[in-house]
Amino acid sequence: MSPRLNRIGLFAAAFLTLALPVAAALWLSHDQAVERVRDSALDYASQALGRTTTLTRQMADAVRELEATSLDQPCAPDTVIRMRRLAVAAAAVAAIGYVADDRLLCSSFGLPEREVAVGPPDYVSTLGNAVRAGRELSIAPGTPLVLSTAASGFTAIFHPIVALGVAADDTESSVGVVAVSTRQVLGRRGPFDLDWRGVAVEDALEGTFETGGMMVAWKRLPAWDFFAYAALPDDDIAAGFRASAAIMLPVGLLAGLILMLLLRRIVRHQQSMATLLRTALRRREMQVMYQPIVDMRTGAWVGAEALVRWQRPTGEWIPPDVFVPMAEAAGLVGQVTDAVIAQGLADMADHLRAHPDRFLSINIAGADLRDPTFPSRLEHLVGRHRLPSASVHLEVTERELLDDDVQRDILARLRAAGFKVALDDFGVGYANLASLELVPFDHLKIDRLFVQRLDGERAPRPLISAIIDIALPRGITLIAEGIETREQAERVVGWGVTLGQGYLFGRPMAAASFIAGSTRPAAVPEPA
Ligand code: C2E
Ligand code: MG
Ligand code: MG
Repeated sequence: MSPRLNRIGLFAAAFLTLALPVAAALWLSHDQAVERVRDSALDYASQALGRTTTLTRQMADAVRELEATSLDQPCAPDTVIRMRRLAVAAAAVAAIGYVADDRLLCSSFGLPEREVAVGPPDYVSTLGNAVRAGRELSIAPGTPLVLSTAASGFTAIFHPIVALGVAADDTESSVGVVAVSTRQVLGRRGPFDLDWRGVAVEDALEGTFETGGMMVAWKRLPAWDFFAYAALPDDDIAAGFRASAAIMLPVGLLAGLILMLLLRRIVRHQQSMATLLRTALRRREMQVMYQPIVDMRTGAWVGAEALVRWQRPTGEWIPPDVFVPMAEAAGLVGQVTDAVIAQGLADMADHLRAHPDRFLSINIAGADLRDPTFPSRLEHLVGRHRLPSASVHLEVTERELLDDDVQRDILARLRAAGFKVALDDFGVGYANLASLELVPFDHLKIDRLFVQRLDGERAPRPLISAIIDIALPRGITLIAEGIETREQAERVVGWGVTLGQGYLFGRPMAAASFIAGSTRPAAVPEPA
């Protein structure tokens, strides 16, 4: 990545670390505010439902008692006195009376001076009561009442607002009770009014929805023919949001700032890592070790893999698995490769000129394959040491090649220039036989983890043989990595793998040890 892009990326990351927690805080505040208003709407609806069921029970009890005692003389003075006692006892009931032929013939207030017509019922509830809503009686003009008449004619008279139970000074919120069967509003209070026929309430016992700037909640009990609703204005959400945000926003900002500081520390650490690496390259703290690659049939050393080592001035060794990825992240891996190539050729050129059948194998990184100057630089260096390109092998891991045309191009140029290319760490993780079709390779290095699995009861013979079946007809040489035991060596040789590398044959060693070792008479050593 270019430094400019790097800086833009950093700015974007810094912005996001601050913006995301703030956005999350706002979103949470809003969510909480909505949740709180929804909860109080449900709470109101549930109170109204509770009062309505109490009322219904009290009405039913009173009517049952009248039916048991006074069915034959529904308006006798005794009955009217009983009605009065029952009405006073049932707190939610305003009065109890007797209705026949759409007329109120008597009530707990006594016998009316003249008959009171109450009109036909609006509907019959599931309990069998004929319900008349919004009736004004001469005893209470201006107050719409509800009359609920049992089959016997005994009638409970009540104030719907008592059932709804809302504080009189609350003008914003609305509550109401609606019949499930007809969707007729039995009583309501507040500005909210809705045609309930469009709302499905049969499938659940409660629900909430937003409509016309209101949060609406409804609630019902199974087997009762009414539900209660409450509607609260959306302004309550905005107010709740402001209150929540006043707490959450500073928390979000603080979290964002902490994240930003963390990011700064990570960036600083990376930068200091990059500085350390740069200094290490300048001071030549990197060293190269050589691990023999062996013809397992004869034991002859045929090549060396250059493996980089970094020893800090403090004496600490940092393994390549750790610092190569760091060098890649810092854009310095090209310099590491250059250093390894320079050192490797300086150490091995004489030996390779003396043994033209041997090779030096160098690990290169994805970034090298994106650098168009890499092939000519390599050719130049190799030429300066008067070595043929074939003396140098390049090891590439598969994950560096996925879907990148530029890299495949440069790889093809390297092969055209005579360098041999090995696909490293094959058989685990990214293992993908299709890459053999996409990029032609000369060697295939079967990964150490894969080879070491051969020791298990269930040796992965099928995959090895699949690899061998693909590689051999294409003239690809197989190299088994990480051979530690004679048994592993014998197995893979038996399957047609000729070259091997691993502690059984030799650990990574200094150049002088490699040169001395490689000229010793060939013999497969006994396992340690
Ligand atoms: P690699 O290229 O697959 O190298 C083989 C690794 O396996 C080496 O580890 C080697 O020491 C280790 N090894 C060899 N035989 C055995 C064995 O029998 N048993 C076990 N357990 N391990 C064995 P090393 O040197 O630590 O390197 C690790 C990785 O770092 C390398 O894997 C390679 O991907 C990377 N690397 C090393 N040197 C360079 C370099 O100069 N440039 C780049 N780009 N990467 C490098
Ligand atoms: Mg390698
Ligand atoms: Mg490998």
